[in-house]
Amino acid sequence: MAKVRFRNLIVSSHPAVQHKLALLRAATTEPKKFRELVRELTWLVGYEALADARLREIRVRTPIEETDGVELADRIGLVPILRAGLGMVDAMLELMPTAEVWHLGLFRDERTLQPVEYYNKLPDSATVDLCLILDPMLATGGSATAAIEVLKAWGARRIKLINLIAAPEGVAAVEAAHPDVPVFTAALDRQLNEKGYIMPGLGDAGDRQFGTGHSG
Ligand code: URA
Repeated sequence: MAKVRFRNLIVSSHPAVQHKLALLRAATTEPKKFRELVRELTWLVGYEALADARLREIRVRTPIEETDGVELADRIGLVPILRAGLGMVDAMLELMPTAEVWHLGLFRDERTLQPVEYYNKLPDSATVDLCLILDPMLATGGSATAAIEVLKAWGARRIKLINLIAAPEGVAAVEAAHPDVPVFTAALDRQLNEKGYIMPGLGDAGDRQFGTGHSG
């Protein structure tokens, strides 16, 4: 496939990210190590995604004297897409301990490949300034665009997508529907297969985290 450039895409080229990504992809990586890598990669990709978070000035007293400092001014909402996004939450909470976590349950209809919402506990109106959608895999973009629509209807103004592996089809779908939403990822892969899996990808990110990939 020809190399496609997307205006909304930020792929981390950091050597630590790329090293961990190869381990994450390997079929021999067991769920415990896989979860660890998801956490570490989320931290690294999430760190970049938060580079423009807003700050406010404060005064800090060191043991020596008083000085200028800053604190986070943005109220941040983490929106993990169930279930694979769950493994990304702890890393983001380490980075932003005061973030709120709002779970959103979307599954992919295996026949239509379209997202179906089955869990949504968002309060009536937006309580945060910046929403970070967490999902390790951006495949067709169906779940991501559905999640963005839910958050925009809720009143979210600034939304970012944090993935670990993205397919060009998914990035294009998000860019077409929501050009204001940047996508942060560790890799842009080649393409989707006929079942909607990313190639080369890593398989099913939920199954690999939770050790549930024995049924098919
Ligand atoms: N979801 C996954 O877990 N893996 C893929 O390759 C695509 C969607």
